[in-house]
Amino acid sequence: MKMPEKCQVCKQPLELEVGFYYGSAYVSYALTVALSAFTFVLWWLVIGFSLDDNRVFYWLITNAVILILIQPYLMRFARALWLSFFVSYNKNWRELEPVQPERTNEAQKNAW
Ligand SMILES: [Zn+2]
Repeated sequence: MKMPEKCQVCKQPLELEVGFYYGSAYVSYALTVALSAFTFVLWWLVIGFSLDDNRVFYWLITNAVILILIQPYLMRFARALWLSFFVSYNKNWRELEPVQPERTNEAQKNAW
């Protein structure tokens, strides 16, 4: 769950303000919904759904297990996407120092 303070390559600070990564939950939610829609359509095409049996519940269980198993990767991907919304790529990153965040609090680091 802990993150490094800065990018090891370009020294970009990774925590821009207190509680910065709370917002990544929205990204994670969107990714989860998109992935669930994908598995739903895939299940529909390959196995199918019916009102006469429990296949929809098997999909629900399968989808839940998949989401739980990939959660560590999904969380990290959501954080990276969230950070990319606020930090744009600087092609001169080797010469220029990254902008230092102003609204951080040393005592509340990693308090997301
Ligand atoms: Zn970097």
